[in-house]
Amino acid sequence: MRLKKFYGRSKNTNGEFSRTLMHQARIGVSASYPSLSSYKAYIYNDPMILYDPDLIQAYTDYGIMLPISPARAPRIIDFLDHSGVLASEPLKPLFDSPTARRFLGDPTPLHREDLERVHQKEFITTLYQEGPEGSQGLLKALLNTYELIDRRGRPHRYEPDRAVKPLLELFHLTLAQVEGTYLACRLALEKDPKPGFCYYLGGGMHHARYDQGAGFCLINDIMIAARKLQYENRVQRIWVVDLDAHKGCGTAELVYFSRIRGDLGGNTGLEIANLSIHMAKGWPLDGETLHAAPQGRAPWIQGDVEICIEAGAEDTYISELQRGLALLEKGSQNLHPDLVIVVDGSDPYEHDELPSSSLLKLSLDGCIERDRLVYQYLREQGIPSAWIIAGGYGERAWEPNAYFLRTLQGGGQR
Ligand SMILES: [Zn+2]
Repeated sequence: MRLKKFYGRSKNTNGEFSRTLMHQARIGVSASYPSLSSYKAYIYNDPMILYDPDLIQAYTDYGIMLPISPARAPRIIDFLDHSGVLASEPLKPLFDSPTARRFLGDPTPLHREDLERVHQKEFITTLYQEGPEGSQGLLKALLNTYELIDRRGRPHRYEPDRAVKPLLELFHLTLAQVEGTYLACRLALEKDPKPGFCYYLGGGMHHARYDQGAGFCLINDIMIAARKLQYENRVQRIWVVDLDAHKGCGTAELVYFSRIRGDLGGNTGLEIANLSIHMAKGWPLDGETLHAAPQGRAPWIQGDVEICIEAGAEDTYISELQRGLALLEKGSQNLHPDLVIVVDGSDPYEHDELPSSSLLKLSLDGCIERDRLVYQYLREQGIPSAWIIAGGYGERAWEPNAYFLRTLQGGGQR
């Protein structure tokens, strides 16, 4: 059944929805889980890239008016294809790919427990529409995460009348991204020659907090993947190196909470350590968000290593990143991790179009140098790495990621 309109207008009465979703029971997200065995991403071998064309999110299809270009990932692939970088292996569905079969064997499905290992159980129950509010709970979580309703309950950069897809579907897409991030980690760990490298054209939901989504991030794929890998005894220590323009505040909060619970290695709690290099000011650090976080929660929880770049101080970026990596090593008692997850946002780019990332303006060369620095460091230290695409807004958001990946042609030596 095709539904023309999925929502009634969200009118503003004391911040409540005066008219609720139409047809929500029929369009609701089922409680079934996605299965990695049916995951349809494409895989390229050298450099290893994971790309899921079904994941392309045209936010306008959901009535969300954000400058997020659905063309970012396809343009990266096109650019690399035309540059001859991807010529070695044709497109294949992931599990039809000999490469994936060789490295992954049987897929390990994503379970709901993997989400609950990281996030509050009640929050996950809400997302699966099993809470007291049913599908309204998921709807509210999405409206909050994508900041679609202002403080007075009015739509904010949200035009539900223009939606051609149900908003609730975004939960499925989010779960697919969690799978992709986890798969990229698995591929990076298993790939030969060592150290493995896998770049996933998705993921990076680093603002998602313990009990709520934030900053366009519903749940935190980075922490879910990291904790799942630890739970499965595939790794012991992981670093998260977050290069997005915005502080990885949700990740910092989730690391902190996991540590308090004793989930991250007993006394030291160092089994996951995180570095975030980001704008010194701006969202989320001074964000007037819809649900401003109380003290002691993200975005004010200090990450293990935080490097703040002031507006206009872009020329210090590379040396500060080097300093940050050294601090991360030192803080980890010089124990190298088994895997690094790199949150490779392109929103520090000077041509990024999101107003809240405008305080950091790296040139294209600066972005490439940033990525090359981390790449070379990990290569020299022999550490496998999974890279995820994270933030990047506007028509040129594909450029930093694509130009970096092009430098990896022929083994990445330059
Ligand atoms: Zn960002």
